[in-house]
Amino acid sequence: MTSFKDVVKVFDKLEETSATLEKIRILKQLFNSVDPEEIDKLIYLTQGILHPNYLPMPPIGIAEKVAIKAISKMSRLKETNIKKIIDESGGIGNAIEKILKQRKSTKTLDSFIKKPGQAVSKEKDQSISEVYNSLDEISNQVGTGSTLKKIDLLSNLLSRSTPKEAKYILRIILGTLRMGIADMTIINALSIAFTDSKKNKEFIEEKYNICPDLGRIGKILSKKGLEGLNEINIQVGIPIKMMLAQRAKSIEDIFERMGAKFACEYKYDGERVQAHKNDNKIFLFSRNTENITKMYPDIVDAVKKLQSKTLIIEGEVVAIDPITGRIKPFQELMRRRRKHDIDQKKLEYPVELYLFDILFKNGENLLKEPYIKRRNILEKIVLESDLGENSILKLATQKIVSTNTELEQFFQDSLDQCEGLMIKSINESSIYQAGNRGYIWLKLKKSYQSKMIDSVDTVVIGAYMGRGRRGGSYGALLCAVYNKSKNLFQSICKLGSGFKDEDLERMPEIFGRLELIEKPPDIDIVAEKLVPDIWFKPEVVCSVIGDEITLSPDHRAGYNLIRENAGFAIRFPRFLGFREDKSVKDITTIEEIMELYNKQTK
Ligand code: ATP
Repeated sequence: MTSFKDVVKVFDKLEETSATLEKIRILKQLFNSVDPEEIDKLIYLTQGILHPNYLPMPPIGIAEKVAIKAISKMSRLKETNIKKIIDESGGIGNAIEKILKQRKSTKTLDSFIKKPGQAVSKEKDQSISEVYNSLDEISNQVGTGSTLKKIDLLSNLLSRSTPKEAKYILRIILGTLRMGIADMTIINALSIAFTDSKKNKEFIEEKYNICPDLGRIGKILSKKGLEGLNEINIQVGIPIKMMLAQRAKSIEDIFERMGAKFACEYKYDGERVQAHKNDNKIFLFSRNTENITKMYPDIVDAVKKLQSKTLIIEGEVVAIDPITGRIKPFQELMRRRRKHDIDQKKLEYPVELYLFDILFKNGENLLKEPYIKRRNILEKIVLESDLGENSILKLATQKIVSTNTELEQFFQDSLDQCEGLMIKSINESSIYQAGNRGYIWLKLKKSYQSKMIDSVDTVVIGAYMGRGRRGGSYGALLCAVYNKSKNLFQSICKLGSGFKDEDLERMPEIFGRLELIEKPPDIDIVAEKLVPDIWFKPEVVCSVIGDEITLSPDHRAGYNLIRENAGFAIRFPRFLGFREDKSVKDITTIEEIMELYNKQTK
């Protein structure tokens, strides 16, 4: 058993350094020192999760208001006093550390308590597993009365913890643990810790791409070494990390990258779905490897009809106008994407799934097969399954193209109902590169004709209260992109247009639970006038398009990179939709903004 007290000392070191190599070195030592039976739990806690997200378990997490109630229960301090301490100490994690240190030094809570003589719980040495199990118990409380139970359990856990343990427990549970540990940092550290060489990280990554569960991978490595990973193969029910595309700048750019001949497919504007079939058991996964089976019962029924015992296929699910049969914009699909009232939503927003790839069939791993072979297998399955005209499963419209005119024509055709084209290499080396954003696939969107060639996925970090028609609710949002090297969310636009009435109505429901008392330390803004009325925990992803990416002294994204005292900003930003299929990990990075900026027609 490894003591959690020792782990949080290492978390402190990880937080202090921004250098990736140093993080890898610290993590390597930690992994080597931990009991192999607990390394999976340690890795999950380091990632701020309890289980890989493809398992349909309740996610970790409570609202800040609930955490304050738990602290109040544990410390007997008034909630208003706790808020004051949070303000003074720069975040709830630091606040709890301060409160517990105070308790320790006085041995009583007298300095905080109005009523003297309250019982003081004892701190004890807790193992990683004990802390993990307590957090799991908290996250498993659902339904009526669950909030009170969570407050009880969390307050007990905090009272058993040292000040530093409590700080990290709160950060984990509030989702504000930002030690800048990317999945690749963990993979690098595992490689050095258990195979003595960083060269093996590629093999580990390959396994991770077909089994996105670093806890499981770490445990196998620590118990059985590198060979142990041979037991990991594609498994129906475990998502494969999705292959992604690079942006094409123009039609000329496509010929340069792809050569004389390539495949083009319509780029449907919906949600990517990876469907797994094992006889009648179907699983659906999102682009983020989240289990979304329950959201699309109609797709589950349709996939069941495919004539193959086991299958892993991919496609884009889109909303359809029930009268005309035409594809509706992405935002319509997001209205369908709810966890509740699915049967009703299914009728209101019918969908279709446009299939474009196959990764596994009847025990055969197809990832290393070239595109044309995979497409042929997919077409054969769809044809032989005799799905009928009314099936909601369709093949993505595709054409092999070799001239400029053909490409232009197909692109124009696609714009009738889609957002552009996916261009796919047909070389022998056009394998399915799981988890990779490479040049085997390029995307060409309608917006390439304007200055800003693509939309940007931002995270919402704050809001300004509305006036007039938007009075009493949020009027505009402050949005940020991600600076990987600094591990910061940096502001890029104040977004006030493009919202439909329904979007505005939904905002309190979406953002209410994310409101924060003060600016979290990982958010970076520059202009005084941009300080929002309310801060949010950076969680909701919002897609934004603008006229162009400009340089502005007001925003912090890539500050000083191109011009001194200026960052990137989106000019005339317009809201395109909340990307509920994406997580904060997937938002646009400073490097991508720089690329978009450079690709703009100047
Ligand atoms: P975007 O936000 O532009 O949809 P993304 O970051 O989700 O991009 P990319 O790999 O950059 O993902 O762009 C390709 C996306 O386009 C896929 O993830 C998928 O959701 C969607 N798509 C639509 N039609 C196709 C198709 N025929 N082939 C592959 N992907 C398609």
